Amino acid sequence: MKATKKKTKKETETLSNKKPETLVDKKGIRLDGRKLDELRPVKMEVGVLPNADGSAYLEQGRNKVLVGVYGPKEAHPRHIAQQDRAVIQCRYHMAPFSVDERKSPAPSRRDIELSKVIREALEPAVFLEYYPKTSIQVYIEILQADGGTRCAGITTAALALADAGIPMRDLVVACAAGKADGKIALDLMDTEDKIGEADVPVAYMPNLEAITLLQMDGNLSPEEFEKAINMAVEGCKQLYAKQKEALKSKYVVEEVEEE
Ligand code: ADP
Repeated sequence: MKATKKKTKKETETLSNKKPETLVDKKGIRLDGRKLDELRPVKMEVGVLPNADGSAYLEQGRNKVLVGVYGPKEAHPRHIAQQDRAVIQCRYHMAPFSVDERKSPAPSRRDIELSKVIREALEPAVFLEYYPKTSIQVYIEILQADGGTRCAGITTAALALADAGIPMRDLVVACAAGKADGKIALDLMDTEDKIGEADVPVAYMPNLEAITLLQMDGNLSPEEFEKAINMAVEGCKQLYAKQKEALKSKYVVEEVEEE
């Protein structure tokens, strides 16, 4: 039988429903060992689904997200078509096995709301006017959820749109910052999101330096809010570097020097 790594006390508290006493220790270290301004470990890959026109996979901490894109193709049903541009049809969906307690596979109110805000976060980046009367379908599947999945969904969807060869003004990358134990912290995981005081998800177009999604859950002072946005944008910039790496590793063939 495969030996399993013994979990540390902190990991056990994080993974179980037991409420930890503190989220940030005296040295400013969080339950998973991160500093306040540190992202979770991230892995991204594009072109993972050969049957879709574009696809991407992302892991961010315990989050696992898969996105498939189809289109642009003739819009169905016809009444959703716009004469002067393409429409994005976006579906954010949490798999029943993505959380501790089985989630109903039917779309929840939260799934529907997140589908809308994610679509709105992606739209400014796509040259929709190039493809009138068509639709671009974006299917976001949350395979495993641990806080910040709307942001992880946006980051992955932008990669899948680029992989589908859809012309874009910029990539879109998203990250949240929030407040845990009175301190502003980057990229909250589920426990920090649930027990912490606030969460501020931000989606950002890094070259245009424009924010396409800004939400806030909880309470922050104006100073804390500004600090959280700035921290989230810095997180977005780090994630953008990873997005570029993922695209390059599929599309840029290293030049071999001739002897
Ligand atoms: P986000 O994932 O963008 O942070 P929320 O703040 O709504 O969005 O959710 C935070 C986290 O709560 C999710 O990432 C997930 O880990 C957890 N969660 C959401 N819905 C459910 C559910 N139905 N059952 C259990 N956990 C859930």
